[in-house]
Amino acid sequence: MTDPGIRPKAPRSKIYLESRYRKLLRGLPQTIFYCPVCKGDRRRREGCTNCEGFGKLTKESVQELIGRRALPAFSARTGNFHGAGREDIDVLMLGNGRPFVYEVIGPRCFDVDLEVLRKEIVERAGGSIELAPFKTVDKSRVVFWKQSQFDKVYRAEVQVQGTVADFTAARSFSGMIVQRTPQRVAHRRADLDRERQVQVLSLLELDSDRVELRVLCQHGTYVKEWISSDDGRTTPSLSSLLGAPCKCVVLDVEDVMTDDLPGPRLPQKQKMPSEAG
Ligand SMILES: [Zn+2]
Repeated sequence: MTDPGIRPKAPRSKIYLESRYRKLLRGLPQTIFYCPVCKGDRRRREGCTNCEGFGKLTKESVQELIGRRALPAFSARTGNFHGAGREDIDVLMLGNGRPFVYEVIGPRCFDVDLEVLRKEIVERAGGSIELAPFKTVDKSRVVFWKQSQFDKVYRAEVQVQGTVADFTAARSFSGMIVQRTPQRVAHRRADLDRERQVQVLSLLELDSDRVELRVLCQHGTYVKEWISSDDGRTTPSLSSLLGAPCKCVVLDVEDVMTDDLPGPRLPQKQKMPSEAG
């Protein structure tokens, strides 16, 4: 006889919600921004001088804005956020937004109107994020978005030092660039050269020392460094094409070019004959 008081623990069920987010506020990270010193650990964060015991470096994140409404709705305690890549904290995510899957762990309520939930999240976020309608999906979509790589369109405002004699080379640039690991991430990434495809879509003079750049980049391109050249570690760069030092001052992701979206695409790389078949 089994003790009726002890029930075998059922594995916690999970619900996967897929959507796309637009991030309209600079300084908002995609996921919880834990303090790098105490890592947000409950005991270690007390007395942590880096975050003053808060455990995090920002109050909000896209993940928390969603979880704060979604978890109570599903009567769940925890969730995970799985984004199809991420943008820097100071970069907006515009256009059709970035795909993600929000994983609700151990829901006890299943009768949730996803459209009501979506509207509540967006309303309470006060304009900092917008969401496409939720769809329930299975776990394979988390893997799909983690493994897929997409071209991205960026919009940048660029400060140009000095005078530009000719914009033609930059305006018409489409081709391969070589990027050595940027100095700003060299402490955590292997130092190597990467080849990436980049295509300038438009280059507008905003002012005597400022241009607006729209550029289509292969996944994994360091755009800020393609603009500045990162002290010559990226070639060619916008700086070398314009013949004047450039600095990215504002950056937005205009779109993540997933397969279902219309819009510009980089030409597919030609297969070498030895790779064919
Ligand atoms: Zn801390």
